[in-house]
Amino acid sequence: MKKVLILGAGAGGTIVANMLRKQIPESQLEITIIDRDERHHYQAGYLFIPFGIYSTEDVIKSKKEFIPQGVDFIVDTIVKIDPDQRRVETKASTYDYDWLVISTGCDIAPDEIEGMRDAWRDNAFDFYTLEGANALYKQLKYFDSGKIVLNIAEIPYKCPIAPLEFVFMADWFFQVNGVRDKVEIEFVTPLDNVFTKPVAAKVLGEFAAKKNIKVTPHFDLAAVNGKEKNIESHKGNKIGYDLLVAIPPNMGNKCLIDSEVSDPVGYVATDNHTLKAENFDRIFVIGDTTNVPASKAGSTAHYMAYTLVDNLIREIDGHAALPKFDGHATCFLASGFEKAILLDFSYDVEPLPGKFPFPGMGPFSLLKESLSNYWGKMMFRWVYWNLMMKGLDLPLEPQMNLAGKIRQKAS
Ligand SMILES: Cc1cc2nc3c(=O)[nH]c(=O)nc-3n(C[C@H](O)[C@H](O)[C@H](O)COP(=O)(O)OP(=O)(O)OC[C@H]3O[C@@H](n4cnc5c(N)ncnc54)[C@H](O)[C@@H]3O)c2cc1C
Repeated sequence: MKKVLILGAGAGGTIVANMLRKQIPESQLEITIIDRDERHHYQAGYLFIPFGIYSTEDVIKSKKEFIPQGVDFIVDTIVKIDPDQRRVETKASTYDYDWLVISTGCDIAPDEIEGMRDAWRDNAFDFYTLEGANALYKQLKYFDSGKIVLNIAEIPYKCPIAPLEFVFMADWFFQVNGVRDKVEIEFVTPLDNVFTKPVAAKVLGEFAAKKNIKVTPHFDLAAVNGKEKNIESHKGNKIGYDLLVAIPPNMGNKCLIDSEVSDPVGYVATDNHTLKAENFDRIFVIGDTTNVPASKAGSTAHYMAYTLVDNLIREIDGHAALPKFDGHATCFLASGFEKAILLDFSYDVEPLPGKFPFPGMGPFSLLKESLSNYWGKMMFRWVYWNLMMKGLDLPLEPQMNLAGKIRQKAS
């Protein structure tokens, strides 16, 4: 019997396992999924932990709840991939495959920046890990005056809107706590604006200005000086802080780098549209570990899964993969005071204003703050656990739809 092996049971791997098992019965295809962690993390929920809105229990469930019947779930660490032998080595065993799906995601790498590790969890914190988010909660709870700097070390990083969400939520948090006038918030980015795409960058930049958040663009982080409490750019510019909220460099998993199936940062060269690995046969790639120029987001992994599963089945049936993935991403950006802003975009279409998902009706508004968008953001956790991770369809098309969107120029 043919064997499909899935590496990583996070967002992408879990959706693929469910969709594939639904379409091909156990008697015709063996599916195995491997992950080092028995717990599934709803990473989008990490954002709310520092502000006391979610706790650890809200963002963790057993992975077993989401692995469908008829799929073997192995808890083990993947060490090496051998595409020539079609074999994967874990700490405890080896597995052969006919087709491989790589879905090992990406993680923060604070050691990549000089001095960051020395300041880590002393005056430099993160919210991209569960431990980091919980440690930052303790800091924010008692922070009543001084300067918070949020710094993005480099691109790409996962969930491109999360850093902006953090500073918008921080503005809300300190206002509610009655200390906003004593807290400075600065958003420091290597980009030339708060977001990559011009129309959204303009709208989101205006929100930042309205919320009295200072934006410092073009800052390429070279070092963190924890003792002096400043960050330093490659040009030698320094920005002082009392509390640093760091988005360190993101990297794909070491097993991919060690196996030379990825670039040195751990991202696998992936066809933008078929999601096949560019340099290896019988390997598909999904989610954060691809090098495609789409957002590293759970919504993207969900949209990718439709193309990947179709193409995997096409190959099993002896047909060529089709170029169907269009870079689609849908992101709710929490902006404080029970409001959120919604962005829907693809490789070719930048986030535009309009209504979503039903043209003219919404209920969500694109590139606008609204209460219904906030409900969408908060409902996303239920949708994630109960629909997405079970491989069920949402009332959304995997491909980006222009209906309901208004074309617009940035200036
Ligand atoms: C703070 C934050 C906020 C976010 N907000 C949003 C949001 O609002 N909306 C949204 O759509 N997305 C959001 N995201 C992004 C989203 O969580 C990721 O894009 C998504 O989880 C990517 O799925 P993935 O399958 O590629 O990787 P992951 O879900 O990270 O899964 C990778 C899996 O691989 C496993 N693994 C890795 N290496 C090994 C190994 N060597 N051996 C065994 N197992 C291994 C890991 O344990 C993990 O389970 C956010 C992320 C963060 C950090």
